Amino acid sequence: MNNLKIVPLGGMGEVTQNMFLYQYDQEILIVDCGIGFPDIYMPGADIIIPDISYLLKEIEKGSKIVGMILSHAHDDHIAALPYLLPDLPEFPIYGSALTAGFAHERMKDGSVKRKVNVIDDGDVTSLGKHFSFSVLSVTHSVPDAKHLLIKTPEGMIYHGSDFKLDLQPVDGVLSDLETAAKAGKEGVLLMLMDCLRVERSEWSKSESTTGPAIAKEIIGVKGKFIVTLMSSHIHRIQQVIDIAVANRRKVVFIGRSVEQNMKVAEGLGKIRIPQGVKINKKNIK
Ligand SMILES: [Zn+2]
Repeated sequence: MNNLKIVPLGGMGEVTQNMFLYQYDQEILIVDCGIGFPDIYMPGADIIIPDISYLLKEIEKGSKIVGMILSHAHDDHIAALPYLLPDLPEFPIYGSALTAGFAHERMKDGSVKRKVNVIDDGDVTSLGKHFSFSVLSVTHSVPDAKHLLIKTPEGMIYHGSDFKLDLQPVDGVLSDLETAAKAGKEGVLLMLMDCLRVERSEWSKSESTTGPAIAKEIIGVKGKFIVTLMSSHIHRIQQVIDIAVANRRKVVFIGRSVEQNMKVAEGLGKIRIPQGVKINKKNIK
């Protein structure tokens, strides 16, 4: 009898609020724990979080959460942690180094003290009696993004959280298509795949083409040069820093998330900022 259930609590048919449950007998493995963003018809709401009433009911009936895997560091995959973890029992949480770093910051915001265990590509981790998983690198608009190979009693699941195939990534870390192909040869029961604009036939340009475009804009600018971007887009920020250095300019980060994320990324060596380039926002005129 097929006992494997996949229950999306968010992230299915929508871009945000990613949270998937893999359920086998009385064991539940969670993938991601993200927020959504309100639309104009939700006045007063700052964020949306997945509805976990199904999960709570299953726990009440005796099911056990054996673990949670965070696929990457975007807020629609990790930022619901401080809101949902307090309502759930303890279980191990896993993510790549940058994902763990960002997740810890998000949890601090909600005074939640839980540790995300850092996993490396290829490491096989067993969860409960029925599940084990490993991760492989994929390129995305945030570094250290992973796709998951989840082994279940029914077969292998390829959980492909959102990504962007980039053949010239800024950090040189390519998508590990070899491991994906190997898994395919060995047999994948189900592949879940999420990729924005996948319905369009042409390729997205590589992130590394953004730098030269920004560099062109900065030429001849006398005063401040302001760049707005997603605070987790470390590769774009890296390119802006490199351009600033080449133009003998200083960089200042303004914004709560970008300041938080830069601290984490710098600490993990995921961004290179030469000494003296970054200045405090209090010192700008
Ligand atoms: Zn994403």
